[in-house]
Amino acid sequence: VSLPELGRPTAELIAELAALRGGDWRWRAGRSFGLVYHLDDDHADALAAAQRLFAAENAVSASAFPSVARMEAEVVAMVAELLSGDAGTAGAMTSGGTESILLAVKACRDAWKLGHAGRPHMVVPASAHPAFLKAAAYFEIDVTQVAWRPDFAADPAAMRSAIGPRTALLAASAPSLPHGIVDPIPEIGQLAVARGLWLHVDACLGAFVLPFLREAGEPVAPFDLSVPGVTSISADLHKYGFAPKGTSVVLYREAAARRHQFFATDAWVPGPFGSPGLLGTRPGGSVAGAWLALHRNGRSGYRRIAARVLGVSRALMSGIAAIPGLRVLGSPAMSVFAFTSDDRDILALADSMEEKGWRLDRQDGPPAIHAVVTPVHEPIVGEFLADLADATARAPAGPARVGRRAGPYGLVGDLAAEADPVGQILESLEARWGV
Ligand SMILES: *Cc1c(COP(=O)(O)O)cnc(C)c1O
Repeated sequence: VSLPELGRPTAELIAELAALRGGDWRWRAGRSFGLVYHLDDDHADALAAAQRLFAAENAVSASAFPSVARMEAEVVAMVAELLSGDAGTAGAMTSGGTESILLAVKACRDAWKLGHAGRPHMVVPASAHPAFLKAAAYFEIDVTQVAWRPDFAADPAAMRSAIGPRTALLAASAPSLPHGIVDPIPEIGQLAVARGLWLHVDACLGAFVLPFLREAGEPVAPFDLSVPGVTSISADLHKYGFAPKGTSVVLYREAAARRHQFFATDAWVPGPFGSPGLLGTRPGGSVAGAWLALHRNGRSGYRRIAARVLGVSRALMSGIAAIPGLRVLGSPAMSVFAFTSDDRDILALADSMEEKGWRLDRQDGPPAIHAVVTPVHEPIVGEFLADLADATARAPAGPARVGRRAGPYGLVGDLAAEADPVGQILESLEARWGV
């Protein structure tokens, strides 16, 4: 494809874009279980209106766009209050959970380097998001991944054993993406306090669900800044906050910790330069959309959404548990879960569900199918469970086929087991653009 010499009419291009979507996962029909968080069409229209209003504004400059800076400050303040912050809590908006985690880990590293020489180390549950591994790679930190307990929660005793003289950071999830389990954060917080370590809680998934389930009387263990020892916490707006993509918040118990997140230099010849996060130019529209989402839903809206997604998840999980041969992993805290089979090939089962029009994310350890439940799944529970029962009855007996590994969340294709896995992943990334 070449850049056309003459521009083409908008209507024709929009029609072409609409047609392009034909091969995508049918998330709007509830046919896939991740990647998209859609509340309803009215909400999507409201987000789009806010985004459109600020489509050209650039959140890089607070002085050029005090409007955007004001919205960011309000968003951070609302999330800080939601997650039990107090007057000392500081935070920032970022482009997503990955950036929130990268920044918290970078802040921890720079704080640690003030008092230590050498290369820092971090202790991360194996269930934690790979953004922690990415942070370790980017910021030259050693990392120990600690196996989860049989209930799929992080294991504080094993984390304690993994702490060494260069350990700077502990991580925990609320909940974890692979299994939807909230780690025992009060215990890990005690460990952080006792050993003088930074604890980052990844509440990217749970920040806009767990507080509202607790308000509705569900048993939700403490996970946020109310827990002693929690130094920083990440909360994605673009997941269960139902804000536009490109929005998350990272919070620090103290502003002094956040200062290590920032980049400042007086060495740039044109003049002083300061930047809070990884990005330069940032879309003002995403900030406006996030601001609108929080105000439009309010606490009562999020309470209703949390109750809805929990109800749908429970219907799905109990339906799955009732299908002979299938089993949900652990006791998921909210609307994210995985299920496996002890006597069927679960990956072959996912393939046959695909033939019925369902796109299911696969994961490993043990081989399982993963689901993130949102309101688009409300109407499909019965049909999904009927198709799943049928596919399970036909699935080949025995454990999941060896010879390939599942690529979670549609990020990378399944890997052949025999060849260099990292090389295969790099090839799949290179193939993305075809150039
Ligand atoms: C989605 C997610 C992340 C990463 O967030 P992105 O917005 O995809 O960058 C981190 N942790 C958890 C638990 C998540 O679900």
